[in-house]
Amino acid sequence: MQCDICGAQAAAIKKTTKSFGRGEKLVVIENIPIVHCSRCHESYLTADTARTLDRIRKNRRSLGKAKRVLVASFKQSAA
Ligand SMILES: [Zn+2]
Repeated sequence: MQCDICGAQAAAIKKTTKSFGRGEKLVVIENIPIVHCSRCHESYLTADTARTLDRIRKNRRSLGKAKRVLVASFKQSAA
């Protein structure tokens, strides 16, 4: 597919997992289609994907499934 940024026919969809928010509002969304261009090396969301992500985040209580997730905080070890 065509890259929106450089216009080359070098873009492909990659599925990724991202977390949004923090604490009570934390939601992890899997299988987000990110467009990655192998020519300009940009990664971006389409407008449709961004809209869908917003909707999922707003409806996370009804759309989300509670899974056991380990959440670790980044902490630099003193050792
Ligand atoms: Zn590009």
